[in-house]
Amino acid sequence: MNPVFADLPVTVFETMSRLGREHGAINLGQGFPDDPGPDDVREVAAKALRDGYNQYPPMMGLPSLRAAVAEHYGRHQGLELDPDTEVMVTSGATEALAGAIFALIEPGDEVVLFEPMYDAYLPLVRRAGGIPRFVTLKPPYFRLEDEALAAAFSDRTRLVILNNPLNPSATVFGEAALSLLAGYCERFDAVALCDEVWEHVIFDGARHVPLMALPGMRERTIKVGSAGKIFSLTGWKVGFVMAAPELMRVLARAHQFLTFTTPPNLQEAAAYGLGKNDAYFTGMRAGLARSRDRLATGLSGLGFTVLPSAATYFVSIDIGAADDVAFCERLVRENGVAAIPVSAFYETGRVKNLVRFCFAKTDATLDAALERLSRQA
Ligand code: PMP
Ligand code: GLN
Repeated sequence: MNPVFADLPVTVFETMSRLGREHGAINLGQGFPDDPGPDDVREVAAKALRDGYNQYPPMMGLPSLRAAVAEHYGRHQGLELDPDTEVMVTSGATEALAGAIFALIEPGDEVVLFEPMYDAYLPLVRRAGGIPRFVTLKPPYFRLEDEALAAAFSDRTRLVILNNPLNPSATVFGEAALSLLAGYCERFDAVALCDEVWEHVIFDGARHVPLMALPGMRERTIKVGSAGKIFSLTGWKVGFVMAAPELMRVLARAHQFLTFTTPPNLQEAAAYGLGKNDAYFTGMRAGLARSRDRLATGLSGLGFTVLPSAATYFVSIDIGAADDVAFCERLVRENGVAAIPVSAFYETGRVKNLVRFCFAKTDATLDAALERLSRQA
């Protein structure tokens, strides 16, 4: 037997969480919140489980959740979605991404990826036989530049995978950057897979602009969302995918053979939760922004150079000439704090001087981590 796994590496989240456990570290690496999630949403899930929502739900998702997704994105982002033909429920955003990549890529197709990129994209693209073309975004602003796009797109470009807001840089692409990208997608007749799982976790009054809403993009964008991020329930793995009917038919084919369905009690609870009023979303953002400020201020106080964080659960520090992987290994072993080396999100444009911390934690956890970080080895 000769198992092949060269293009399926071990994810940095697994590596760092395991190292963290071994060293009894505070885990500010993998992004998951201390917040237990809204009581009422969890109660609806528990009740649905007791009430018998336990057999295979419809392949495309519970009608209640598909309707709630359409209503939610109409209310928050002005999108008009037909719940019957343009919305599908997946087992997390991860399944939606994998399904879209497997459904759309033929071996030899080119795929434009923006690094730093979420770690799932590249292994999936390679496994599907796609040829990655990288656009490297550099700190501290991670701007989308016209020349870099011009160099990455070609007549063989099939798919573009954008994450907005962007994990790990915690930056947000606004209308100007998205229009630039939309122009290239139209010109080269490419489909955009837009991973918008962080759309509600955005701070300081910024507004999320869905790529799908840009001129020319309605028919060629696959929008991906996740209940995990909307309700601080990352283990739930309830995702939603939205696309025009023609694209959706292809995505649904892939979904049939990946997971077919997603636990119905969690779908029922997500449907309920998506109807929450603005106060919930404002409150979630305010709480996370406070945690961001607490960690960022603490890190600056320790002498670290802290990058701005406009979204997500993450803030990064610039460690100058040090190597981020070595730095994180030392941090977990000697200080008992797990973090993520941002070079794990780069393939070509080696940026090795950034370290990502998750701030979605209680004040006590953040303070304890800062205290540990203050003990210089
Ligand atoms: N995309 C990005 C950019 C993410 O950060 C994450 C997880 N944090 C996911 C996808 C995965 O989402 P899910 O847990 O819904 O599969
Ligand atoms: N998305 C989470 C992060 O960026 C981790 C998800 C995972 O563990 N695969 O930290």
